[in-house]
Amino acid sequence: MEQEIHITLRFEMAIGKVNLNEIVYKLKELQNPLMLEILRNILMGYDDIISERLCRTDIFPSKARKGLGQHVRKGDSEDRFCGGRKLIKKGYRSKPRQISTVFGKLILPLRRGKCCTCGGIYSPLLSALKLDRYAHKESNFEHEVIEAVIDTNYRRLIDGRSIDISLGGIHNIVVGSDIDQTFQYPVSAEKLSAIMADGTGVKQYRGQKGELRAVIGITQKGRVEPLGSFTNTEWPEIEQTIKARIKEAGPYNIPFIYDGEPGLDDFLADVAESQRCTWHGPRGLYHALWSDGLKKKESEPETDKIKQLIGIELPAGDFEILKEEDKEKVTSQYENSKSAIKELIETFREKGYKHGTSYLENLSERLFTNIEIWLKTGVIAPKTTSLLERAFREIGRRLKRIAWGWSDQAVTNMSKMIMIRQYSRDKWIEYWKEKLGIQDNFNIQISSVKLSPGTHF
Ligand SMILES: [Zn+2]
Repeated sequence: MEQEIHITLRFEMAIGKVNLNEIVYKLKELQNPLMLEILRNILMGYDDIISERLCRTDIFPSKARKGLGQHVRKGDSEDRFCGGRKLIKKGYRSKPRQISTVFGKLILPLRRGKCCTCGGIYSPLLSALKLDRYAHKESNFEHEVIEAVIDTNYRRLIDGRSIDISLGGIHNIVVGSDIDQTFQYPVSAEKLSAIMADGTGVKQYRGQKGELRAVIGITQKGRVEPLGSFTNTEWPEIEQTIKARIKEAGPYNIPFIYDGEPGLDDFLADVAESQRCTWHGPRGLYHALWSDGLKKKESEPETDKIKQLIGIELPAGDFEILKEEDKEKVTSQYENSKSAIKELIETFREKGYKHGTSYLENLSERLFTNIEIWLKTGVIAPKTTSLLERAFREIGRRLKRIAWGWSDQAVTNMSKMIMIRQYSRDKWIEYWKEKLGIQDNFNIQISSVKLSPGTHF
C-alpha cells in the first residue's frame, strides 16, 4: 500500500547576514523531532487503516485483515488467542503509549476496539507492530544503547538526545538480551589454531568481587572466535559448556593456552593440548635445576639465558596478526633461539643436570610448536596470552565504567556482547538485523522537496 506524507517547514532567514554553518546547525537540531513527528504520523495512519479494516468486515474481505487483530481472548486463564477478527471502535485509550526510540520519546495515541466475539477491549496497533503489551522501547533504541555502552560513551548518547535511560535501565536491557541463547552454534575444532582461557575480577553488587571467565578460540585465519563468557562459574562447568559447542570430539592437538590459572591443567584435554604459558619458563627451569642440586647463583645465568631466548620480540598490532614483512625477522630470531636452546640442552646433558635437561626439552617443544603455529597462521602471542589479556583488559575497562553493581547475568551478557562485537563484527551485525526483523516490509524515500516562496518579500 502506497501513501504520501506531506511536510511543511517554515523558515525565516536574515538576507545578507545568514551563513551556511547556521543553516546546517539549525537543520541538525530539527532531525530527531522531525523523524519523531513523521513516525507518529505513519503509526497513527496505520492505526486508522487497521481499525477500519477490522470494523468494516462488510467492505473488507478476510484477506485484508491478514496479520491484524490478534488478541488474547477475554478471561482466558491460559492467555490463548481469540479467533474473532471483527471490532467495534471504542475511541482512544485515555493515556497515549510512551515508547523510547532512537529519535527520542514517542508519544503515541492508541485506538481501542471491542472484539465482537469475546468482548475483550484491545489496541490492534500494538500486535500489528509486533509490540509486547508492556513494551516501552523499540529495538533500534536497545541497539544504540548497547553500542554506546560497549563504547563506554553512553553518557554522550543520553545527553545528546532526549533519550532517557538510567543505569538501571541499561542493566535491564542487558539482562533481558537474548545474547545468551544466540551464538550457541557449534564450532569446528578443525578450524581453530588455539584455544585460550583466563579470568578477571569484576566488582558486582554491593562491591562484592566476582570472577569473570572467558574462553576464546583463535581461528587459523587469525580471527577471534568467542567460545563463552561466564560469571562466577567453576571451570569444570565451563569446560562442559565449551565441549558441547565443539563439533568434533577427536584430539586435534590444538594448543590450549592459559596463564597459570589454577584448575585449568586438564582443561579440554580431549580436544586440546594444555600449554601453560611459556612465560613461566625461567622460573620452572630454576626449580628443575634446584632439583639437580644447583644453587640460585649457579642457575641464574642459565635462567637468564632462557629469559632472553624465549623473549622473542614481536611487533604489537591490533589483532596481533603477524605481517608478512615481519615474518622473516621473527623466523630468523626463532631459528637462532631454537639452536641456542638445543645447545643448552646438550650442555645440561653433559653436565648431568637430569631435571634441567628434561624440563628444557619439554619447554622448548611447547615453545617451538607454539611459535611454529603462530608463524604459520600469522597470529602472534608467542610468550604470553597477550591476545587474551588484551581482550580481558578491554572487557574489564568497559565493565568497570558501567557495570558496577551488576548481576552475574548482566556481566556475562555484557562481556559476550563486547567479545562478539569486537571480534566477530559480521555476526554481530547479522544478529541485530535479525532481531530488528528487517525484511523489506517498509520502504520510504523522499519524493520531492520544493521551496514555495513566502508571501512577504
Ligand atoms: Zn476476541
